[in-house]
Amino acid sequence: MTGWHANTVAELSAALHEGSVSSVELTGLYLARIAQHQGALNAFISVTQEAALLQAERADARLRAGERGALIGVPIAHKDIFCTAGERTTCGSRMLANFVSPYDATVVERLRAAGAVMLGKTNMDEFAMGSSSETSYFGPVRNPWDPARVPGGSSGGSAPAATATDTGGSIRQPAALCGVTGLKPTYGRVSRFGMVAFASSLDQGGLLTISAEDAAVLLAAMAGFDERDSTSVELPVPDYTASLAQPLKGLKIGLLHEFFDQGLDPQIEQRIRDALDVLRLEGASLRDVSLPNLPLSVPTYYVVAPAECSSNLARFDGVRYGYRCERPRDLLDLYQRSRGEGFGAEVKRRIMVGTYVLSAGYYDAYYLKAQRVRALISADFARAFHEVDVLIGPTTPTAAFELGAKTGDPVTMYLNDIYTIGANLAGLPAISVPCGFVQGLPVGMQIIGPHFSEPRLLNVAHRYQCESDWHRRAPPGFT
Ligand code: GLN
Repeated sequence: MTGWHANTVAELSAALHEGSVSSVELTGLYLARIAQHQGALNAFISVTQEAALLQAERADARLRAGERGALIGVPIAHKDIFCTAGERTTCGSRMLANFVSPYDATVVERLRAAGAVMLGKTNMDEFAMGSSSETSYFGPVRNPWDPARVPGGSSGGSAPAATATDTGGSIRQPAALCGVTGLKPTYGRVSRFGMVAFASSLDQGGLLTISAEDAAVLLAAMAGFDERDSTSVELPVPDYTASLAQPLKGLKIGLLHEFFDQGLDPQIEQRIRDALDVLRLEGASLRDVSLPNLPLSVPTYYVVAPAECSSNLARFDGVRYGYRCERPRDLLDLYQRSRGEGFGAEVKRRIMVGTYVLSAGYYDAYYLKAQRVRALISADFARAFHEVDVLIGPTTPTAAFELGAKTGDPVTMYLNDIYTIGANLAGLPAISVPCGFVQGLPVGMQIIGPHFSEPRLLNVAHRYQCESDWHRRAPPGFT
């Protein structure tokens, strides 16, 4: 039997419930497929074959016993930033190359309880720092549409259906560049317990799926208050699937003026405008909206995120856990060599920048100023949401670029994040949906909404996907 991999979670779940396929069969097919493509794509850091087949057997037993549940027996993958008890969690780093967490992340625990089967842990930029998935200690991930190109980052290995994280775009960028759907929920909507910290005021767990409908199913299982994460929000979790099909009549869409700038590939702009025509036909109205402080997102983020990372990554000292250098001479040597050998170049760059902007004498000029600009950007969004229900723009300025094209120049790499970072700085939910191709490479449309507007974002994305099939296209050789 072939072709199951092309199905959405919703379709797989229907087949599992009616018994036309078992979870063990599906899991076996997915594992075979991972083995087939791993050499070319390097999407996985660990494949947890034995555990997966065991979980699949358990899921089949639950189904046979008549249990119902949208994720029972459905194979998924976890970004290797989420702790998994008994399986290693590397965060793409030599620092954690042999780290086995004694506990599960809340997200992992919830998805397991919902019956999802974990296939393995996906490759990513080291400590989620990057926009191309090239900085992994385990080698770069490649784009299935063209293996000479990057899949986007940092969740470059996560593909449908999979968990991921987004600090400045790491869910939405790979979604756009690989032609899948990626949802970054509101800050606080999904527990970060057991998710390796990069920049704590920006990090948010979320997901990559084929469709918005699948995103609704996964989010429902992942979201909710967790007493082990003080930043998780105590708000009820709505039924994300219930509002998917709601008509768009009366929806007010704001076109993000600052996103349709000089840096945007004109062909991507055209794809977005075509998609907007579809939404208009569905009954939405469009107007231009300007967020004057938004162009300051990149410099603001690249002060705030490194500052927080320099403090979060201080815990990797060669003493408590993680990589330890051979034969340290004394304590200082232990710290220096463990960190020097355990971290890659980009992580070190971030730690140095972060330490600098937080140091006495520079704190006010950099960190404090960045925090002020961040408040202005949040206020811009809040103002815009008085006028419109959602904001739309591109997810990335260009389609996937070639491996190595930007690794020599960090600033060029950082500029990929120009359209995604704003939502993180303001803590807003945002979704990227495939909206066409540019020279054979997929591109994405980004929809941003007010805090906790996930039902609305999923609704707009779903209605668009009912009228388009970009999200169902597969790369040549992957059909
Ligand atoms: N590209 C951004 C960075 O390098 C965002 C990464 C992320 O969202 N984890 O920091």
